[in-house]
Amino acid sequence: MTCDNCGRKATQINDLYQLCSRCYTVEYSTINISGKNMKVKDALKLQLEKMELGRKEGESIADWCGRCRVWATNSKYWKKEMEGKA
Ligand SMILES: [Zn+2]
Repeated sequence: MTCDNCGRKATQINDLYQLCSRCYTVEYSTINISGKNMKVKDALKLQLEKMELGRKEGESIADWCGRCRVWATNSKYWKKEMEGKA
């Protein structure tokens, strides 16, 4: 079975829909932050904006992804993860 939205392999199937994991998460998954339930997509967007990594007006997805990639590879978490692996 394939996802009703995107055609990937469906993993969430019932009488109402058949969705892949990504589309299910976007549509139905929530996360609780500081006592407030939010859709995962909204929580991710909010967190990226707090990190000044939200998508800027007119910015292409490729440029946005590149900016996030530069941030991630320069982060202390990435550098610590890569210690000793070079
Ligand atoms: Zn899908």
